[in-house]
Amino acid sequence: MIDCKQIQKMIVPFAKGELTLKSEEMFVKHLMNCHDCREEFEIYYIVEYGLNEREIKGLPGKYKRFIKDYDFSGLVEEKLKDSEIKTANIRRAEHFMRMCLLFVNICMVLTFLVLMIILYF
Ligand SMILES: [Zn+2]
Repeated sequence: MIDCKQIQKMIVPFAKGELTLKSEEMFVKHLMNCHDCREEFEIYYIVEYGLNEREIKGLPGKYKRFIKDYDFSGLVEEKLKDSEIKTANIRRAEHFMRMCLLFVNICMVLTFLVLMIILYF
């Protein structure tokens, strides 16, 4: 089981989009259920955006709305939800790619079999 200290070390990499897919999934799953870590994450955003006008300018509009209202728990909620959707989409794309590869492999095996049948029977 992963502990809160490890998760809290991932806050900055998560905010910067530097986590691997697996770590990001773990991070989001933990924060969905852990009040302490969520609070840590909120504090990170308060420090990062609450005091830094320049950082805010680079944000997508839907995030700016939360900062304008000083709703950092809403911002964290939104970020976690977005990340969940993003990782789920990547997982789906990966699954689709694997299915395509499997299909190509099956076609190759079938072609090979047909070739053998034609050659030797
Ligand atoms: Zn925690």
